[in-house]
Amino acid sequence: MDAQAPITQDVLTIPRKAAEGLPNLVGMTRDGMRDALIAAGTPEKQAKMRVGQIWQWVYHWGVRDFAKMTNLAKDYRAMLADNFVVALPEVVTRQVSGDGTRKYLVRIAGGHEVEVVYIPETDRGTLCISSQVGCTLTCSFCHTGTQKLVRNLTAAEIIGQVLVARDDLGEWPVQGTPKDEVRLLSNIVLMGMGEPLYNFENVRDAMKIAMDPDGIQLSRRRITLSTSGVVPEIARTAQEIGCQLAISFHATTDEVRDKLVPINKRWPLADLLDALRTYPKVSNSERITFEYVMLDGVNDSDADAHRLIKLIDGIPAKINLIPFNEWPGAPYKRSSNNRIRAFADIIYKAGYASPIRTPRGEDIMAACGQLKSATERARKSKAQIAQEAGL
Ligand code: SAH
Ligand code: SF4
Repeated sequence: MDAQAPITQDVLTIPRKAAEGLPNLVGMTRDGMRDALIAAGTPEKQAKMRVGQIWQWVYHWGVRDFAKMTNLAKDYRAMLADNFVVALPEVVTRQVSGDGTRKYLVRIAGGHEVEVVYIPETDRGTLCISSQVGCTLTCSFCHTGTQKLVRNLTAAEIIGQVLVARDDLGEWPVQGTPKDEVRLLSNIVLMGMGEPLYNFENVRDAMKIAMDPDGIQLSRRRITLSTSGVVPEIARTAQEIGCQLAISFHATTDEVRDKLVPINKRWPLADLLDALRTYPKVSNSERITFEYVMLDGVNDSDADAHRLIKLIDGIPAKINLIPFNEWPGAPYKRSSNNRIRAFADIIYKAGYASPIRTPRGEDIMAACGQLKSATERARKSKAQIAQEAGL
């Protein structure tokens, strides 16, 4: 890909507003949709079959217009149109980075906006989705954590981000043609804005839709949920979602982690590690990803690397080193490349994969931890950020 290619930005004007008041079929679980169809007059005996048909139109074929759902009787299509909508978040802007990364700003009910990032790679494409507007946690190195306003996304708004991206990538199957071998959108990571485990039910329902074998069909191995360490919800993630887990670890002592990831004060390292030890067994996940942001002089010493190895002993793990992505007012600096490599080397020699994450889409502020919608400008002051970080 040509790294020098210009940044492009365009504004899409596809009207996607839901009609006021009508329930949205997008985001409902199969059971929820069944109940809704029955409440709208579908005979109980037919309801399961109708769910199957609508589900396939919406999630397999990407069809939103009831009139095009041709295996349903005309009267039934009219009934659906009178009672429901199939609505997605509205795409406000779409930016394409020189490296092919795409960043969408999507608008949800209430006028809030969240960011969604698509990262193409040679053998796959990853969509980084958001679970909340902003985040109530205040990790001191994270741009999202400085945003004041927070609201949970609904399941429709979460799965809607996936549908929006598939629309933009033109990736809905065409009837009568063979299935694509390689998917453009093959993986989902819950690493955008927000703490997914503080919005558990909506995230779970949305990911169940993404995994459903009759629709988007992503294997649970291709979905990774990243959490800062909401310990009581970790076992539930294994049981009720079963996806891959990533942990924003970032420090090897409680003292430092309390400053970087303040939720550590509530659930310190020992509690977190206990919860992680049982995760792979319950979820059948292969390895837990430990995310570790490299902050100059804060958490990047050789001693840190050695401590990290000791702490995770016995947990099937991969350590993902993330060079810190700077943002205006950030109270940290990125570790030098040499430091990051030395740190990676210690971990690698201890027998763990230790990839260094290449920042993608930096020119459009799409890299990890840089997401914060420009329209939600209300932000904490530099002094407040530093104070909360205990600096
Ligand atoms: N709230 C969740 C998921 C979103 S953040 C969580 O914290 O895990 C996704 C990843 O990016 C997390 O590991 C987060 O710690 C990391 N991150 C946040 N800000 C960053 C920054 N400025 N530079 C690099 N990584 C960052
Ligand atoms: Fe929230 Fe994750 Fe950012 Fe922490 S790193 S403030 S949990 S989004």
